[in-house]
Amino acid sequence: MADRFFPNQMPDFIPETPSEAPVTEPAGDSLTKLLHLPYKSVSEQLKRAALDLKETVLRETWGARGKRVTDYTLYTGALGTAFLLFKGYQVTKNKNDLLLCSDIVKACDSASRGSGHLTFICGQAGVCALGAVVAKHSGDERLCDHYISEFKKRLSGVPVQIKLPNDIPNELLYGRAGFLWACSFLNKNIGKETISSSQMRAIKDEVVRAGRLMGKGRCPLMYEWHGKRYWGAAHGLAGIMNVLMDMELKPDELEDVRGTLRYMIKNRFHGGNYPSSEGSESDHLVHWCHGAPGVALTLVKAAKVLGDEDFLQAAVDAGEVVWNRGLLKRVGVCHGISGNAYVFLSLYRLTGNVEFLYKAKAFACFLHDRAQVLISEGILHRGDRPYSLFEGIGGMAYLFLDMVEPSEARFPAYEL
Ligand SMILES: [Zn+2]
Repeated sequence: MADRFFPNQMPDFIPETPSEAPVTEPAGDSLTKLLHLPYKSVSEQLKRAALDLKETVLRETWGARGKRVTDYTLYTGALGTAFLLFKGYQVTKNKNDLLLCSDIVKACDSASRGSGHLTFICGQAGVCALGAVVAKHSGDERLCDHYISEFKKRLSGVPVQIKLPNDIPNELLYGRAGFLWACSFLNKNIGKETISSSQMRAIKDEVVRAGRLMGKGRCPLMYEWHGKRYWGAAHGLAGIMNVLMDMELKPDELEDVRGTLRYMIKNRFHGGNYPSSEGSESDHLVHWCHGAPGVALTLVKAAKVLGDEDFLQAAVDAGEVVWNRGLLKRVGVCHGISGNAYVFLSLYRLTGNVEFLYKAKAFACFLHDRAQVLISEGILHRGDRPYSLFEGIGGMAYLFLDMVEPSEARFPAYEL
C-alpha cells in the first residue's frame, strides 16, 4: 500500500549545529537545505507561512462565504477556523485574531442551535466551550458565563444539571468521550469545577459501565460504533482511553484502562501498526483517526499518567511506524501529514529527546517545502473540505503555529 504515503527519504536525524560553528550550505534540494537549518530559523519560517495560511483559511471559510455558517463544526467547519485564530492569538498576541475568533464562534453559536450533536469536535459542546474560553481571554465575563450556562443548558434543558441522552455512543467524535473532553477543556482553561466533578463522574461511570459490558473476556473495556469495535482515536478505544485518563478514576477503573491499552499493544500488527477495529487484518491506515498515530498520542499520555515504562516503549514503537509510513498523501490532522507530525511533538514533550523534535521538524518542513506544489499537481490530496482544521490546510497552519513553541504543542482537540 505504498501509494497511501510518500517513502520517507529524509535522514533519520540531523543534529543541530552549535551556533558558533561555521555554517556551510549543505548540498541537495530545498528540503535538504531546510532540514539542515537550526530549529529556530525553521520555526520562524513556519510561523510566517502559518500566518499567511491563516489569512487564506479565514478568507475562504468566512469572508468569501459572507460570514455565514453552514457547517459549524470544529472538524470541517467554521469552528475550526475559530480554533486556528485562537491559536494564532496565543502565539502572536494579535488582538484582531481574538476579535475575529469571537465573531466566528458567535455565528457558530446560532448555527449550532438545535443540532443533535454534543461533542467538542463535531458538536455544540465545542462551540460553547471555545466561546467561554475566548470570552475569558477577551475579558468579557458576562459572555463567558453565557457560554458556560449554554454548555449545560443545551444538553439538559436546565442550566445546572447535565444529562446526556441515553442512546448516544461512547466514542470521541459523536459520543460521551467527546463531551467529556469538552468538560476537561473548560476546567483546564476556565477553572477547576467549572463543570463539577460529580457531573463528569456520572458520565464517566456510564462510559466505564458500557465498556465493561462489551469487554467481557479478552479486553477489560470495549465499545462499538456503527456495528464495529474500533480501536483508533476518532471512534474507538484510543480516543476513549485518552479521555478516561483525564477523569478521576477509581483503582479498578485505572486497572481496566491499563489492561485495555496492554491488550491493544499485545495485539498490534507485527510491523507495529494498530488495527482500525477489533479483528481487522488490514494494515493500511497510519492516521490519527485509525492506526498508530492516534494510539501513540494516547500511549504518551498513559506513560505520563500511569507511569509504566512499557507504555513509553510502545509509544516510541508507534512513532517509528509513523516515521516510516506516516508521510501520507493527505495534508490534514485527521488523516494527513500534519496530524502525524504531532506524534513526534508529543514524544518530544514527554522525553525531551531532540531526535523527536527533529522528526516533527522534518514532517513540517516536508509540508512547508512541497505541500502547495504537490496539491496543485493533484499528488497531495487537500481534503474534501480543503481549508478545514481536520482535513485541510487549516490543520497545516495549526501545526506550523505549534512548531513555534514545541514544548507547548498539543494535537488540536485531543491533547489537553
Ligand atoms: Zn481521519
